[in-house]
Amino acid sequence: MGFLGLEGKKILIFGMANRKSVAFHIAEVLKESGADLIFSVLGQEQVSFVNKIFPGSPVHICDVGNEDSLRDLACKIGDGQGKIYGIVHSIAFASYTDGFKPFHQTRKDDFLKTMDISCFSFIQIAGLFKPHMDPDGSIVTISISTTRMAAENYGYMAPVKAALDSSICFLAKSFSEDTRVRVNGVGASLLKTSSSAGIPGYIEPYLFAEKATLRKAALKTEEVANVAAFLLSPRASGINAQTVIVDAGMSVNYFDKAIVKAAVAGK
Ligand code: NAD
Repeated sequence: MGFLGLEGKKILIFGMANRKSVAFHIAEVLKESGADLIFSVLGQEQVSFVNKIFPGSPVHICDVGNEDSLRDLACKIGDGQGKIYGIVHSIAFASYTDGFKPFHQTRKDDFLKTMDISCFSFIQIAGLFKPHMDPDGSIVTISISTTRMAAENYGYMAPVKAALDSSICFLAKSFSEDTRVRVNGVGASLLKTSSSAGIPGYIEPYLFAEKATLRKAALKTEEVANVAAFLLSPRASGINAQTVIVDAGMSVNYFDKAIVKAAVAGK
């Protein structure tokens, strides 16, 4: 038995799009640990990707914004053999109908759609899959390292992630009524994935974040995935209702010497 103790455990992964996805890296760690993976992806393109990289793992298509599609998925997977031990929610979507605007001009329809896909889907997935879960299982979502650093280009995704962080606590509490299922999140700082590439003007904050880590090296997606796999595993049995920050120390480095010096010198 490996350190994580995930051999033969059934884990359902939402949100894999390509090799850069956080979900892809989580799947790699889980596979190495001997878990049995099931995937739910957005479309046919991702099905082909999963079939190529994880041959033999069942893969389903589900738009999490569509309640019927999610219900069908829960029935299909729930009818399969054995309980689901773990669920990974690694999904985000932001819509900018009129292009990127200052925060106070956020459109209601964009905000609600983003909240639906990036936050409510987590609550709904947890609820629909609860009857099919191992009572000692674990659910993990991917959040961000801070929802209070008001980066203009992250816009309304930060309040949506704040709602996601809060939902972690409420789900953990409501599951505790009749199960020992734990619910946690990984609060990741800036990564290089296709969803981050879609954030307007992402590259400069990404390069800044690299300098602002304590180690002066960018956070790697594998590092986020390792924490997600740990939280899913029985090794994290004492951790519940938390967002574990994975930011290579950036959050304490507001007064980084080199950055302060460059700012004061006007460089
Ligand atoms: P990604 O684009 O690879 O993953 C996002 C996934 O969401 C994709 O697989 C996409 O298909 C899926 N998705 C979007 N709308 C959907 C829908 N309606 N139904 C089903 N699936 C849908 O990007 P990623 O960076 O791997 O994002 C995964 C998670 O990590 C997100 O929650 C994101 O906010 C979070 N995160 C990313 C970073 C970063 O810098 N990239 C930092 C912190 C947190």
